[in-house]
Amino acid sequence: MNCFNHDKEAVGFCKHCYKALCRDCLVDLGDGLACKEHENEVKELNKLVSKNIKIHSNMPKNTSFTNLFYLFLGIVFIWFGYSTSDKILNLAFIMGIGFIVFSINLFFRTKVLFKDE
Ligand SMILES: [Zn+2]
Ligand SMILES: [Zn+2]
Repeated sequence: MNCFNHDKEAVGFCKHCYKALCRDCLVDLGDGLACKEHENEVKELNKLVSKNIKIHSNMPKNTSFTNLFYLFLGIVFIWFGYSTSDKILNLAFIMGIGFIVFSINLFFRTKVLFKDE
């Protein structure tokens, strides 16, 4: 494949416009390649990505806390539903089961999400 601007062999793609470019046209930003036109855009993009990675790495702690919270809510609701009514299937009880199912679902979702780490 040839460079978008020259008749030379392309060595990479701009991270912003995905044009194939030669060594002379590309700027290596360490975290990706950019054409001269998009140097700033790609820098911004890289900043954004590293910010996201930081947020991402804080997430497991937060979600496991949310998990426990819903699990706790579920137990409280089930206990409340169980102790205030003869019928096992009252609203509080059903909501309690809902919270627990939600928390288990959340647990598996975050596990899938973070299995690479
Ligand atoms: Zn570009
Ligand atoms: Zn070129």
